[in-house]
Amino acid sequence: MLTDAHVLRSASTDRSGWQGSDPAGVVRARDVADVQRLLAWAHRTGTPVIARGAGTGLAAGAVGVTGAIVLDLSGLDRIIDLDVDEQLARVQPGVITADVDAAASAHGLMYAPDPGSVGISTIGGNIATNAGGLRGAKYGVTRDHVLALDVVLADGTLVHVGRDTIKGVTGYDLVGLFTGSEGTLGVVVGATVRLIPRPVRTATAAASFADIAAAARAVTAIVRSGARPAVLEMLDGPTLAAIDALEGTSLREFGEALLVIQTDGFGAEEELDVIASAIAPLAASVQTATDAAASEALLFARRRALPALEALGRPLIEDIAVPRGRMAEAVERVAVIAREEGVRVFVFGHAGDGNLHPIIVTDHAAPDAPVPAGALAAAERIFALALELGGTITAEHGVGRLKKRWAQRELGADVHALHVRLKQLFDPTGILNPGSSL
Ligand SMILES: Cc1cc2nc3c(=O)[nH]c(=O)nc-3n(C[C@H](O)[C@H](O)[C@H](O)COP(=O)(O)OP(=O)(O)OC[C@H]3O[C@@H](n4cnc5c(N)ncnc54)[C@H](O)[C@@H]3O)c2cc1C
Repeated sequence: MLTDAHVLRSASTDRSGWQGSDPAGVVRARDVADVQRLLAWAHRTGTPVIARGAGTGLAAGAVGVTGAIVLDLSGLDRIIDLDVDEQLARVQPGVITADVDAAASAHGLMYAPDPGSVGISTIGGNIATNAGGLRGAKYGVTRDHVLALDVVLADGTLVHVGRDTIKGVTGYDLVGLFTGSEGTLGVVVGATVRLIPRPVRTATAAASFADIAAAARAVTAIVRSGARPAVLEMLDGPTLAAIDALEGTSLREFGEALLVIQTDGFGAEEELDVIASAIAPLAASVQTATDAAASEALLFARRRALPALEALGRPLIEDIAVPRGRMAEAVERVAVIAREEGVRVFVFGHAGDGNLHPIIVTDHAAPDAPVPAGALAAAERIFALALELGGTITAEHGVGRLKKRWAQRELGADVHALHVRLKQLFDPTGILNPGSSL
């Protein structure tokens, strides 16, 4: 257990920038028994415990509170085994997600969920937040790839839920329940994740559009075409301008919106041809690539979107989702909100999932400076808009401490009460990540 001031300070916040409090200590677990001992003690003494992976979360889920222990799981970072024939891997929670994919790749396999933070976040954090990623359009989110979990419950009991088979329906879906529970129901200390054959080839396209409405119509055309892209990302004009400013590119000259599309598998090129034909009537221009270097060049814009906005100021990263057919309306109304509140809002996101990231960029200021009122007002109106359009306030980053009030509104009184009862069942003394999610 560490109590150095700088360790406590860094555990008081995460990548959301939300400032919590210095915890009483940071415990770095060396093995599962450490986690069990800590929780048994915390349960007895009523001490709050906040599980933490890499602290890349954007919802203030893993941040310290006064008197709490932050339980750092990043040291449990072994891939225990990788079964090529069963196509699965057994991993500890602190493994960096990209390392699981790299290990799978050596055997022609892939761990599909690839959040933008794949190189810096842990698989335990991904499971706890049910993280999504670029390949979600075809392969789904983390929950679709978790077969079994080892979880330490609030009183220190270690349980194994799920099974290492592709199918199995005995009992309730506790793997599904723990996945996305943000450290409020138990601490994930091990996981069996599904691997899939690594696609033999990919084909990529970047398509520019005169406006965001045309790009959104193109997404519908792609869905209707019968093709299933692995990646289907959308960037709005202001985001393209920010990338141009940072990288010296001229993306915005081609249009006010960009779609980046990637197909994969044996028929990748044929599938991309189907998509290119479907969007041709709507697009201002379409560029395609089939070799790795040219594909990477087309994906470049998407990869540089967040750094480009970080160069402009301090980003508040939101992650709403709406039905795909309402994305254009969402982006247009976000622009109106930005004008009315006098703030800069940029939108990019996983269009294949209807998941939009409206990023409110405020001026660079001291990290602990309060967020300007206009930015907070814009965020509130964006959440309200997501719900009005039949969507959600958080598609992948989680509720954490930032969106609790809105989560209650989205869930409604009865379903929220059901969550509270579940929480009481799993954590009767309320020690697991108190103040987060519910
Ligand atoms: C540049 C950047 C890009 C990002 N892109 C994406 C993206 O594309 N998609 C996406 O979904 N997210 C994205 N994120 C958000 C973030 O990376 C994810 O939420 C990630 O899953 C968090 O993992 P972590 O290890 O950092 O967890 P932490 O931030 O440490 O914790 C996150 C939550 O999980 C809980 N937790 C962590 N480990 C455990 C455990 N072992 N058992 C129980 N609970 C645990 C914590 O208590 C907390 O509530 C991005 C973040 C950044 C900075």
